[in-house]
Amino acid sequence: MPPPLTRRRFLSATGLAALTAAGTPPALPAQPAHRPVAIASGNGLKAVTRAMELLQQGADALDAVIAGVNLLEDDPADQSVGYGGLPNEEGVVELDASVMHGPTGRGGAVAALQNIRYASRVARRVLERTDHVLLVGAGALKFARAHGFREENLLTDEAREAWLRWKETLSNLDDWLPPHELDTRDIGQGLKEALRHYGTINCNAVDVRGGVSGCTTTSGLAFKIPGRVGDSPILGAGLWVDNDVGAAGSTGRGEANLLACSSVMIVEWMRQGRAPTDACLQACRRIAAQTKMKRLLDAEGRPKFNVSFYALTKAGAHGGASLWGGMKYAVNTGEGESRLVDLAHLY
Ligand code: ASP
Repeated sequence: MPPPLTRRRFLSATGLAALTAAGTPPALPAQPAHRPVAIASGNGLKAVTRAMELLQQGADALDAVIAGVNLLEDDPADQSVGYGGLPNEEGVVELDASVMHGPTGRGGAVAALQNIRYASRVARRVLERTDHVLLVGAGALKFARAHGFREENLLTDEAREAWLRWKETLSNLDDWLPPHELDTRDIGQGLKEALRHYGTINCNAVDVRGGVSGCTTTSGLAFKIPGRVGDSPILGAGLWVDNDVGAAGSTGRGEANLLACSSVMIVEWMRQGRAPTDACLQACRRIAAQTKMKRLLDAEGRPKFNVSFYALTKAGAHGGASLWGGMKYAVNTGEGESRLVDLAHLY
């Protein structure tokens, strides 16, 4: 039997002892053993910039990615994450998030969490302060409260108005009416597809000690059924990290990825020697092959939705792919500015 993971053993294995004792990150080795790299979904330029600042100071990759995604969880203009995220069908914001820390092989996640802006930090607290991996709904909220997270209304006026527009135009058989003229007929005829969207941030990094970590955080599918959980908080689907290999994460239609568990597959394909972009394309092909329902396919038999994957190896190689073109990912390799790179794509 392996020796029990005592607090002292955990702190010294992770280098956190130095952090805890001095309150500052451990000193950088003269010659960093690993080149730090941070990647994120296309909305994550400022996240990778922040993550790289921390990585260059010697921070653990998990601290770096969480600090990066916190910028988007805070940003009311990003309606796909944290504060200002689009709500569920009842107008309530419900967040999903997951984190994985490669060096200790631990993971934490929360799903359908209400009223707490930093779902990523609550997920991290699950990793650090429970013997569980995933907490959901009311239990996740109680846990967050117990750890002193501040409750607040996450619904901004902009997100509420978007929800109201969706509700009022969903059907002409209910009693909700969008703004209209006295003589308008057939109002509210289902703009459901047009107004609904996905959005999330996935951020992965390698630190100077070769530690690999990742985080995926989201308000999930806009106007979802309350309690719906996407791929983001499901380890293996929306995020996977293996400290010997690298990390992968996703954005896009969570239902498709939940049925494919793509992130763990991408990491396994990279273990077998595939480059990140190649492994991500393979995940896209598998999703396309698995999608059989006519309502999800266009006239040429291609999925009508999009899913994107982002992957990083421990050696710092990075790439990504999506089903449909026009998508980008953010990267910072510590040399120059953060930049956006085109994702490879199937269609
Ligand atoms: N994948 C997320 C979900 O399905 C949403 C997104 O990435 O847009 O909840």
